[in-house]
Amino acid sequence: MNSDTAHNNNQDSSLNVNQGVNQPPATNPNAKEIIRKRKRKQLSLDDYINGIQKGDRFILSQAITLIESTNPASREKAQKIIEACLPYSGKSKRIGITGVPGVGKSTFIEALGTYITSHDHNLAVLAIDPTSERSQGSILGDKTRMEALTTNPNAFIRPSATAGSLGGVANKTRESVILCEAAGYDTIFIETVGVGQSETAVQSMVDFFLLLMLADAGDELQGIKRGIMEMADAIIINKADGNNKEIANRARQEYKNALHLFPAKPSGWTPDVLTCSSKTKEGIEEIWNLTEKYFSHICNNGFFENNRKKQARNWMYENINDNLKQNFYNNTARKEKIKSLENKVLNGDISSFSAAKTLLNDYFNTQDSSAQ
Ligand code: GDP
Repeated sequence: MNSDTAHNNNQDSSLNVNQGVNQPPATNPNAKEIIRKRKRKQLSLDDYINGIQKGDRFILSQAITLIESTNPASREKAQKIIEACLPYSGKSKRIGITGVPGVGKSTFIEALGTYITSHDHNLAVLAIDPTSERSQGSILGDKTRMEALTTNPNAFIRPSATAGSLGGVANKTRESVILCEAAGYDTIFIETVGVGQSETAVQSMVDFFLLLMLADAGDELQGIKRGIMEMADAIIINKADGNNKEIANRARQEYKNALHLFPAKPSGWTPDVLTCSSKTKEGIEEIWNLTEKYFSHICNNGFFENNRKKQARNWMYENINDNLKQNFYNNTARKEKIKSLENKVLNGDISSFSAAKTLLNDYFNTQDSSAQ
């Protein structure tokens, strides 16, 4: 309808449409300016630490940007912030959520997140996106996701870090978890796409691991490897609505039987299978009830604390590995030498072992001379 027909001149006509009240803008029109001003002001270490502890989402977000930065000065600042936040961290429920693209992860996180934030919880959602490794655009980040949670005052959504190796991205996510906990988030969701290694990284940083599946596609089709099913503390069959409900219930039974064949978990927990519809919200409350049951189980039997300790120890080694790798590869002269030796290996001029040995000897020699 064009404006001529919408606002015709004949006031008596039943086709007359009155001018409505102007739609107010959905966001604060001055927001951009406010953010620009805040960005311009260099935050001090105390600004960051106090801001995070007060739950200031803007400052939390800026601090995570420092964590993700490759600039050494920013990284150093980030480390100081993390150290200061550590005593206030550790108290949240850390929950991993995985499943293939399209299974409904973001819809599920919206539904469960909306449910728990209306039950006195504060939720932070972080993501690990394996495609970011290849800088081909992310699976998780390239669409508008979780619109309701984005504007929910009790939720903080942070898209995935976009650079570095999986190990590097995982370390950054772990550090971000600490800041989110210090900012008062009692529940942290860490989302990943179910395509391979990133699940192992997520499992190493969460207490509870949820695998989302569909009822109407075989495991093969869903690309879910047996190992990932084995990691799950609960399997959720999503999209159990409409005509799908019956097959979802059947699939639930099948998965339950399949889980019996897996070895017992060190947590002493027997994984369960539930169905839900993230669209109609049916089953969402039951999933949260199961989550709470799991946490009281692992808190009572000591697994929660032991597992956190084990994770902290592993993170130390992963941090060392990641830093060593970065230190080795991020050197311009070495990059050239690697390329030239790689060509020699490809041409069959030297063996892979001798190429590696030459490069490592070079590296150790430069380390030795810089230590003197
Ligand atoms: P993701 O790629 O795993 O994050 O999946 P999305 O949350 O983007 O969902 C993929 C598609 O499935 C979207 O079109 C959703 O609307 C739809 N979807 C998600 N959950 C449900 C559900 O419970 N029931 C139905 N019928 N559709 C759903």
